[in-house]
Amino acid sequence: MEKADPGSNYLQVLADIEQHADSHGCEIPSLITVSKTFDADTIRPVIDAGCRIFGENRVQEAQGKWPELKSETPDIELHLIGPLQSNKTSDAVALFDCIQTIDREKIARSIAREMKRQEKQLKLFVQINTGSEAQKAGIDPLEGVDFVQFCRDEAGLEIEGLMCIPPFDENPGPHFALLRKLAREAGLPSLSMGMSGDYLTATEFGATHVRVGSAIFGAR
Ligand SMILES: *Cc1c(COP(=O)(O)O)cnc(C)c1O
Repeated sequence: MEKADPGSNYLQVLADIEQHADSHGCEIPSLITVSKTFDADTIRPVIDAGCRIFGENRVQEAQGKWPELKSETPDIELHLIGPLQSNKTSDAVALFDCIQTIDREKIARSIAREMKRQEKQLKLFVQINTGSEAQKAGIDPLEGVDFVQFCRDEAGLEIEGLMCIPPFDENPGPHFALLRKLAREAGLPSLSMGMSGDYLTATEFGATHVRVGSAIFGAR
């Protein structure tokens, strides 16, 4: 796709998702435009094309562009999709509307504390390391349901769903199926899965949110 026109790329990806969901009889997931590494002027055409959900993976980078973009378009929902350090929790809760990457008890507790302090309720997802990769963030699948229970009962968080990033070099289908199974077991309605290379596959597996960057903005 053309890097020059992210607005029309966004509309094309959206149309592909809708058509695919329609022909497979599945739910149409929310399309989260992942804008990491791109500046405000590059992002604006996607907002103008109608997108209202964006994802960023670094708190500090997001602080450089989103306060301005959100003040221009207040109904934008901003999702944190990258790892969160506990010393950034306060900033993250202040700027973002959703955190998708809860992956340890300490961060669950500090998000709960900050939401109370700032009197702000965020949407929250637990990240699952479906491939059990040593270098990747996320809760091991075997501990996923217990961890969601911890977030609810001990940390007092309302968890909306699960998120995963499958291993690069594997067929993503089994990972999406595993995430769906864990969400069912934990009684969670939402599934954030699927990126530029596999958002249509994720749609077939019941994604409620897909996170698409390079198919909209071009290569980073
Ligand atoms: C960068 C990123 C994406 C988007 O990746 P693309 O392949 O560019 O679509 C999705 N999810 C996460 C967690 C990311 O960091």
